Amino acid sequence: MPTITLAPDIIQVQLPLPFALRSVNCYLLRDPDGWTIIDAGLHTPDGEAAWRSAFDKLDIKPRDIRRIVLTHFHPDHYGMAGWLQSISDAPVLISPRDAEQTREVWEIPEGSPDPTLAHFDSHGVPTELTGTIVGVVESLREATLPHPELSLIAAGEQIAMGGRAFTAIHAPGHSDGQLIFFAEKDSLMLCGDHVLMKITPHIGWWPNSEPNPLGRYMDSIQSLEPLPVRLALSGHRQQIDDWAGRLRELREHHEERLEAMEEAVGESATAYEVATRVFPVERYTPHEIRFAVAETIAHLELLVVRGSMRRAEGEVIRYLQSM
Ligand SMILES: [Zn+2]
Repeated sequence: MPTITLAPDIIQVQLPLPFALRSVNCYLLRDPDGWTIIDAGLHTPDGEAAWRSAFDKLDIKPRDIRRIVLTHFHPDHYGMAGWLQSISDAPVLISPRDAEQTREVWEIPEGSPDPTLAHFDSHGVPTELTGTIVGVVESLREATLPHPELSLIAAGEQIAMGGRAFTAIHAPGHSDGQLIFFAEKDSLMLCGDHVLMKITPHIGWWPNSEPNPLGRYMDSIQSLEPLPVRLALSGHRQQIDDWAGRLRELREHHEERLEAMEEAVGESATAYEVATRVFPVERYTPHEIRFAVAETIAHLELLVVRGSMRRAEGEVIRYLQSM
């Protein structure tokens, strides 16, 4: 896996992922007294090997790692934080809300039901498929072990790394507590999965999500648009050179998708039914279907908030056109 210098004292390390996304971008920020790691990767043998080869290439010893900062709690970013902490003794920093989410999602006590099950059941996903989805989540949970001891960093706090003062900014939607980091000095943003090129960041409603993730995402990207970002380094794919332009595209994408979802509801439908009408789910793996359904719920719920849809609660939740 390559390491690429993208800005002075900022090196991107691409870590492998065993699914269609293929890789996650992590970053090494150099300071005279050591290195900061941004995002850790999913914990797999290939992931460990990729970190080891990056450390070898850059002549980084475990004790040179000063801290590990996580943009959010998803397994492809959080998964190897515990392992990195175990070799370096470095603190692992994450927002308070996403610290909570690591416990709610990755540390379900043995014998307790996985909330994924009830969530997808209640949105009309066929039982057999829900079972497979729970298995997928279970294997991701294993790829987050061992869990690190977490320290907290809140929005508004400043953090000095890579020779710059970065300000943490709350960027909700992809996860409730995602933080992105802006360095005014050279207009550089570490934007996690909040803004991506080529693919749209996943905005989904998961069992533990706070309400209306898509609404919070749309508000967030609108408020971030005026920021003078020259270069944004993201969690997947290539860097972003046209910040405002990409944010506008993402807003337009979701407005179009909201329209498509509204149409796909017909008179009434479950989120699963809508997902099968909007996405080519027959070509999807269970891992991808769960993203499609979570994304569909997020859109339908924003339509409910905007008043063009209603939600009918029953054993299975159905969405209906507002009268
Ligand atoms: Zn990611």
